[in-house]
Amino acid sequence: MTDAVVAVENLTVKFGDFTAVDNITFTVDRGEIFGFLGANGAGKTTTIRVLCGLLLPTDGSVHVAGVDSNEGTRAIKSRVGYMSQKFTLYNDLTVEENLDFIAALRKLDKTDYARRRKELFDFISFDRSLKTMVRDLSGGTKQKVSLAAALLHAPEIIFLDEPTAGVSPEARSSFWALIHRLSEDGKTVFVTTHYMDEAEQCKRIALMREGRIIALDTPAGLKASTFPMPVLEFEPKDAMSFREFSNIKQRDIFLFFEPYGIRFHACVSNEETWKALRHTYEEKFTIREITPTLEDVFIRREETGQV
Ligand code: ATP
Repeated sequence: MTDAVVAVENLTVKFGDFTAVDNITFTVDRGEIFGFLGANGAGKTTTIRVLCGLLLPTDGSVHVAGVDSNEGTRAIKSRVGYMSQKFTLYNDLTVEENLDFIAALRKLDKTDYARRRKELFDFISFDRSLKTMVRDLSGGTKQKVSLAAALLHAPEIIFLDEPTAGVSPEARSSFWALIHRLSEDGKTVFVTTHYMDEAEQCKRIALMREGRIIALDTPAGLKASTFPMPVLEFEPKDAMSFREFSNIKQRDIFLFFEPYGIRFHACVSNEETWKALRHTYEEKFTIREITPTLEDVFIRREETGQV
């Protein structure tokens, strides 16, 4: 039995004649780390705005923590937390002033606020003074304080919209350690990211394209359904091979043959021809079977729009 904390059914969001979210349906379970991936403009932020009670659906139904968004967005707002890379904290206020401001907006009780702030600053291992100006924090620390701020009112679900964009790899990794701890504590984490190593850490991922969900599964499930046959990597033995092959469509042998950095990734569609011709490719390339990455999945699904 599932324990859905987010249930979206046939959600459509239009801005005038433009359909930003086009009839999407999915659920998110309690405690799940749910990833939302897609190119810029795919409709991720618009969906999150509906789920956070900031925007009403044009059509369809949305239940968040048991509240129907059509019944009013206020009740949803108290149950969710939101942080984005774009808007986090006021740079010209101290850490404490920012938190005080959010606590006032959320109308938190003074004692609860003091307790929560202490717990959350322990949780993020904040070791600076609360009187530090936000502009003086590193990118990674600022994102952690933003996370604490978004958790101040103890929401059941936290929405993270590209929370680690632009921060260092070390800071990204320690931010993700916090995400895992939140999930272990039963919080539901809904996250958008353009980093595939982060997507790999989600329990399930929805891939969005032009307002639609084109795939939804675990990272392993997405790899298996996108690549039912082995994926081969072709490493050119010299630069000539790369130039020569990057312009040729090899459709008669391969399902696809795509550049991937300085290599190619491919799937064979015609085994017989491949057996006959493999040696000619081996003259120019070192060929090995690889486990596809989520980046392979993403590129392939974007290419084909495959559902
Ligand atoms: P990104 O990764 O760039 O944040 P996204 O997947 O979050 O992209 P959205 O921000 O949801 O995409 O935007 C989806 C589409 O809806 C885009 O084409 C965007 O221009 C359009 N859009 C978003 N908000 C509005 C609005 N208020 N009015 C008109 N169009 C909008």
